[in-house]
Amino acid sequence: MTHILFDAGGSTWRADLSRVHDISIPMRFDGAQPNAYDVAPATAHAYETGGFVGDVRRGGSCNFDVVSLIPHCNGTHTECVGHLTRERIAVTDTFAGALMPATLVTVEPVPALATSESYMLVKEEEDRVITAAALEDALVGVRNGFTDALVIRTLPNDEGKSRRRYAEHAAPFFTIEAMHAIVARGVRHLLVDIPSLDRAYDEGLLSAHRVYWNIVSGSHDLEPGALDDAASPALRTITEMVYVPDHVDDGAWLLSLQSAPFVLDAAPSRPLLYHITPHIPS
Ligand SMILES: [Zn+2]
Repeated sequence: MTHILFDAGGSTWRADLSRVHDISIPMRFDGAQPNAYDVAPATAHAYETGGFVGDVRRGGSCNFDVVSLIPHCNGTHTECVGHLTRERIAVTDTFAGALMPATLVTVEPVPALATSESYMLVKEEEDRVITAAALEDALVGVRNGFTDALVIRTLPNDEGKSRRRYAEHAAPFFTIEAMHAIVARGVRHLLVDIPSLDRAYDEGLLSAHRVYWNIVSGSHDLEPGALDDAASPALRTITEMVYVPDHVDDGAWLLSLQSAPFVLDAAPSRPLLYHITPHIPS
């Protein structure tokens, strides 16, 4: 059994590389996909030119697709601060991809009007929010050294998350207090199973994203040198539209986070969670 040992929170852990859960949503170009804002679905079709067709079934010598997609809207993707900045910053500039200790928690969103926690806009009757209170409850007993990455699974956790049309079925979003709680925990990589940290129709404020990246309301610029300091908020990532099946337990994991090497502010990604156990030296 292949395993690796790593240190986190002052202890040594063993990750079993054969016990892994893929928490991305497979991109089904010919099937159901999740969709935010009713954008065009992601497509893949055989390349054709002159006498060549990139489809073996149609007489081509090999399969050869042209792909079209909108990373932010068509499925699991990892994004960086370049989502908000005038300066074009790519997820590949801010993050090399890595193995990191991670915590998975499950939270139940609540009606926005049932909590005193805030959002930058007037809360609407139908809004459901992920609160700091719910997160803090879920994080009781979290292992030391395991909050570099935080994966948040929301309830209900139906499999429909892998094909939901969010323009019709609005997703929950984070209160401002919840974002401050996440930042206070030292999270550098946040993974969520909703299409955005913010309400879909938020008048362009992206308030929760701004708290996380520490960009003041209305600004599209970073502080000078913000990308040079390894601890900078501007180097944090957000991964949206993951799907964490029910059989994956809350708790401590080793996360492998990688995105396609698109030089864009967001790219499709495939987060993997490896089972870990305390290492007992023999
Ligand atoms: Zn996004």
